[in-house]
Amino acid sequence: MSDKKVRVRFAPSPTGGLHLGGVRTVLFNYLFAKKHKGDFILRIEDTDQNRYVEGAESYILDCLQWCGLVPDESPVVGGRFAPYRQSERKSIYREYAERLVMQGHAYYAFDTPEELEQNRKEIPNFQYGQVYRKGLRNSLSLTEHEVDQLLDAQTPHVIRIKMPADERVSFNDMIRGHVSFETNQVDDKVLLKADGMPTYHLAVVVDDYLMKISHAFRGEEWLPSAPVHLLLWDYLGWKANMPQWAHLPLILKPDGHGKLSKRDGARLGFPVYAMNWFDAKTGELTPGFRELGFLPEAFLNLLATLGWNDGTDQEIFTLDELVDKFSLERVSKAGAKFDFEKAKWFNAEWIKKSEAGSLKSEVSKVLTDKGVIVTDDAYLVKVIDKVKDRCVLLPDFYQQAAYFFEQPKEYDVNSVKSKWTDAKTEFFNLLIDRVSGAETWDAAKLETTFKALAEEKAIKVGELLLPFRIMLVGGKFGPHVFDIAELLGKEKTIQRIEKALDLFNS
Ligand code: GLU
Repeated sequence: MSDKKVRVRFAPSPTGGLHLGGVRTVLFNYLFAKKHKGDFILRIEDTDQNRYVEGAESYILDCLQWCGLVPDESPVVGGRFAPYRQSERKSIYREYAERLVMQGHAYYAFDTPEELEQNRKEIPNFQYGQVYRKGLRNSLSLTEHEVDQLLDAQTPHVIRIKMPADERVSFNDMIRGHVSFETNQVDDKVLLKADGMPTYHLAVVVDDYLMKISHAFRGEEWLPSAPVHLLLWDYLGWKANMPQWAHLPLILKPDGHGKLSKRDGARLGFPVYAMNWFDAKTGELTPGFRELGFLPEAFLNLLATLGWNDGTDQEIFTLDELVDKFSLERVSKAGAKFDFEKAKWFNAEWIKKSEAGSLKSEVSKVLTDKGVIVTDDAYLVKVIDKVKDRCVLLPDFYQQAAYFFEQPKEYDVNSVKSKWTDAKTEFFNLLIDRVSGAETWDAAKLETTFKALAEEKAIKVGELLLPFRIMLVGGKFGPHVFDIAELLGKEKTIQRIEKALDLFNS
């Protein structure tokens, strides 16, 4: 790698929610920047006013915040190369488009949208390019005088690149190696639109140059645009400054057939966006990983492994480990299949691995949203510690932890009743007597008392444990039952036994 300072950018268009592929692009940019002590830049590519969607930019910012992938330069924090929103840079681009026209690498095109539409209708596979450009209304087909007149009359026009005939352009992709294109295959893309805004093709090249971007990583879907960009870098005389490119592999549908889309998520019942996205125009809500109960650490971890591995069997990585181990050489060319079950596995592992204290605010929210009253933080942390190994998604904490804060709402009486006996009622009444006066209350002591009493009464401990669990929890789940009792405390344990005895005997 050259000794140029590493500067990478994520350059989303604010057109809607952020697909997990987009977040993976952010992640790979971020990891590369941090690994090489470089800068990570967020540039908003909002030059297509027709596709601009209100709220999409703040959604992207929130999303990066949630993931902890905070840019060093952005429309929010600014930076040396501000502004970072392309719409605010509008005045910059015309000069470069005009320069290309002067050089003969671009031209003015005056065709109206209606005329173009007509051509598309009449000519199969119509492309504005080498074959047809001479017959259309542009500065290549019209005389200089006609062009001047049209320009003087402020006739709406665009500037198009003039794709050269019979050339081959190529570059070295950091993931794919040598990639080349025939210029004959590519149409004359618009560079500057009639409203004076640049298109993506012009803006991305100008801004990557002006912002001194050293490496540009983007999704594979941008590969077809590469020949246009390569020519622009060349024509503008900036070839020596061109960033090194890498086109990241697609994230595929679970069956491997095609790119994972928003619709696949809806069809198969899993999120495809990072966070909930509400489309105000259609009223449609697209669910996100965050709201479903994913931890950002797990979300990043699973994204990192979509198309990358470190060459070992390790699957769980912290962000610091990823920064340390990440390399583009180990990103595969092939698309990566998305597996939602595996995604959930990552989350479960991360919940297990997290310190109970660090989950406190998330879990407290899950519980309070469901009406559970949580007042004691220290108690909440103890509860989390006991049940976190049983939770896959954050909302699972409701089922797994609510009974520590309130009496069970339902009891699985059926699992107990058929084998219920008076002797068992007597056992639990005696248990209450034995423990009522106890000064210390802990799981081990309670277990000893419980087992000794069972032996005295000649009842198998195994027959008493399930009823005891149902008394405390309401159902057949949860951690070690004596640990539950310890956390609940003596009074609540006794109250719950009493209440359940009434139910079992009624
Ligand atoms: N604005 C493009 C997008 O929306 C960026 C592509 C690139 O990174 O060059 O994805």
